[in-house]
Amino acid sequence: MALTIIALEKAGRKSSGWNGDHGKIAHALEVKDGQRERDLEGGTTAALCGAAPSGRGSWSSHQSEAVTCPKCLKKLASAVALN
Ligand SMILES: [Zn+2]
Repeated sequence: MALTIIALEKAGRKSSGWNGDHGKIAHALEVKDGQRERDLEGGTTAALCGAAPSGRGSWSSHQSEAVTCPKCLKKLASAVALN
């Protein structure tokens, strides 16, 4: 079974920071069956590590090149191992 993952950063007011994430951490979001990547971009679905945009924030509307969140990467590694 294929696991579809996209990398999204929290969209901050500025690129300089949002809740200490510095706007630079890209989390992994799973694209589940029936979902499209567009459904997650700019949304508030929780990432693999459980992180989600807080308050009125949302994910960035464009994908990052790679997942950089250590917790998400760990989850990804175990998910791949299971498959
Ligand atoms: Zn994460």
